Amino acid sequence: MADLAELVPRIAATMAARTARGRVANYIPDLAKVSASHFGMVVITADGREHAAGDADLAFSIQSISKVFALVEALASHGEGVWQRVGREPSGGAFNSIVQLEAEAGRPRNPFINAGAIAVTDLITDGDDPRAGAGRILRLLRDLAGTQGIAVDGAVAYSEAATGHRNAALAHFMKAHGVLTGRVEATLSTYFHQCAIAMSCRELARAGRFLMNGGVDPASGRRVVSPEQARRINALMLTCGHYDASGDFAFSVGLPAKSGVGGGILAIAPGRASIAVWSPGLSPQGNSLLGTAALEELASAMGWSVFNPD
Ligand code: GLU
Repeated sequence: MADLAELVPRIAATMAARTARGRVANYIPDLAKVSASHFGMVVITADGREHAAGDADLAFSIQSISKVFALVEALASHGEGVWQRVGREPSGGAFNSIVQLEAEAGRPRNPFINAGAIAVTDLITDGDDPRAGAGRILRLLRDLAGTQGIAVDGAVAYSEAATGHRNAALAHFMKAHGVLTGRVEATLSTYFHQCAIAMSCRELARAGRFLMNGGVDPASGRRVVSPEQARRINALMLTCGHYDASGDFAFSVGLPAKSGVGGGILAIAPGRASIAVWSPGLSPQGNSLLGTAALEELASAMGWSVFNPD
């Protein structure tokens, strides 16, 4: 097995030298301003060691990675009731796909596509103030990362709301089917704020530690979710965490992981490590190109695929 202290900087150097970096998301105008040249990576192992390289401490827009933490909050307040609203099947479709909703009576396939995430966010939206629901996610992230420095990027949240017509269409369609119960505008506003949370790879890898550790945050000893919920969240990340590239990610990396169009990926090697990578250039399916390549190198060098025999 490779030595992480040497491996993580080596992977970062390999990625820095790559010229094919993918395209930065531009459908949210404020995300398009980020340079494709960034690359950051942090690996935190079960013994608490942190290995960081590149732009590990630069905050980026976590976007859909927030869907994992929204799900944690919804499970905390609604338990198994979450699954009455949203399914557990990979969608095989784009992150913002609308066609399946029509065919399946407004019930989204899983909590990690936009429709499913909006349905989950509806459960944690509290009244009309978007700061209430998004604040729950923010508090959770700050607590898990051990810093008050994580915040919503107001410009990105505004940009999302100003251009989020497709998300609004998904939300209204689900409302028409009774899948959303709150006020659509409040749910959408909460969703745009949670997507606009900005944090670094180091903070994200710290926030993900409970998922490598059966639901308990190893830093504080706090139980965040039950062992069964941790296992299920990891299962959903593996099968649904990369939209219509989830199968390919399982094939090439073999770890539960959730990507966001800001170019971040949170990946979990159960019992072994919590990993965050960030590189803003995306594949055509909206997943970080170099982030995926880096995780593939890491998982292969460490033998960390969940499909390995040990
Ligand atoms: N805020 C983005 C949207 O709803 C999230 C998409 C993503 O990160 O994949 O369009």
